[in-house]
Amino acid sequence: MKSFHIITFGCQMNEHDSERMTGILEARGYSSASRAGDADMVILNTCSIREKAEQKFFSELGRLKELKTARPDIKIAVAGCIAQQEGANILSRAPYVDMVFGPSDIARLSDMIDIRLSQSLPLIDTAGDPQYHLKRLPTSRTDRIKAWVSIMYGCDNFCSYCVVPYLRGRERSRLPKDIVNEVRELAQKGYKEVTLLGQNVNSYGKGLEEGSDFPMLLRLINDIPDIERIRFVTSHPRDLSHELIAAIRDLPKVCEALHLPVQSGSDKILNAMNRQYTREEYLNKVTELRRAVPEIALTTDIIVGFPGEMEQDFEMTMKLLEEVRYDNIFAFKYSKRPGTAALKLSGHVQDQVKEKRLTQVLALQKTITGENNKKYAGTIMEVLIDGYSKKGGKLAGRTRGNKVVNVDAPDTLIGSLVHVNITAAGVNSLSGMICE
Ligand code: SAM
Ligand code: SF4
Repeated sequence: MKSFHIITFGCQMNEHDSERMTGILEARGYSSASRAGDADMVILNTCSIREKAEQKFFSELGRLKELKTARPDIKIAVAGCIAQQEGANILSRAPYVDMVFGPSDIARLSDMIDIRLSQSLPLIDTAGDPQYHLKRLPTSRTDRIKAWVSIMYGCDNFCSYCVVPYLRGRERSRLPKDIVNEVRELAQKGYKEVTLLGQNVNSYGKGLEEGSDFPMLLRLINDIPDIERIRFVTSHPRDLSHELIAAIRDLPKVCEALHLPVQSGSDKILNAMNRQYTREEYLNKVTELRRAVPEIALTTDIIVGFPGEMEQDFEMTMKLLEEVRYDNIFAFKYSKRPGTAALKLSGHVQDQVKEKRLTQVLALQKTITGENNKKYAGTIMEVLIDGYSKKGGKLAGRTRGNKVVNVDAPDTLIGSLVHVNITAAGVNSLSGMICE
């Protein structure tokens, strides 16, 4: 029996694409190897959202050269966004690579392997499959309680810093009935939580029949028995509609947690980023959301050091964090990406300035998160126990607001919804005792 090992870089979409590749390979009779050195085929599922992710991939690829020299029969494949971006260029840098294919070519993985095995030349296929979004692929999920479900692929937004629309193509939504069937099957297998995935889930439904929008999809999934929680990422603030806010408020299974990337607090920078909303419009949506769902946990993405970001623009971002008081943020230094509009902008910011600003936003957010979390101490929260705590010795789970909670409890509770009396609240996690 042949074996494979997949190394995944980047976001949840890539993690989920790796689950699909695993499903296809297992259906082909391959088994999963825990180390690259033990496998007959190694797949690197790559990310090119920032330069750092790209560097990580190339150093991993460099390490695999030794393996290929020692075992020339091993097959090395490069998948994902760098494969799509670089295509044949990967072979000029690493001639020992056997296969290069993009994110929308995954459905043909088994055929591509057959072709590669029948020829001596490497195989490069980044053409993409126009029907990819309509296909249901075998999927081998790593988690038994929480599942990712793609509802759409690609992005039409062209934020000026971002490579996604170039590498993952235009927005294509899966059919509601296919998504519902997949979630039903997950419920039958015992899954309790689904996270609906897309670059901009709020605009789900483009190109589908009238009325097929994201709030409708949430309602359909909310009706599926045995699924206890519904989450989704990512929401573009421009497309956060009144109807979606009402759906979050009214549908009991939709968790009170929203990742709403703002990127910057300065209108000048938001405009240069082509984000299509102003600071005020964003803040108005946050106000409406909190009015409708007061307990909602909000998280965001921030880019510091975007071209043209002056000290006063950065200050606007810091002020926005103080005003919104997010539950958490993901902050990044602006990274130049090939083919994007922002590359041509003037006023590129020095790396040491970006570094300083990154440190400042992270420090501010750490204080805010710590202060926010204190309010949970002494309360009782619903927690879905999903495994073991990072430090070991305890079980861990998540609240509806997606906070990590560590509890002393028997393993038999993994997969259960429990109520926890929160006794301590730190920056990274809460802890407590199960209520009788
Ligand atoms: N579609 C989502 C959205 O609109 O926010 C997520 C896109 S991306 C996978 C996740 C985050 O990476 C973005 O929200 C942005 O903050 C960050 N990002 C994207 N391109 C970047 C770049 N060139 N430099 C730094 N950060 C970047
Ligand atoms: Fe990239 Fe913007 Fe699309 Fe998100 S919405 S994937 S940041 S282009």
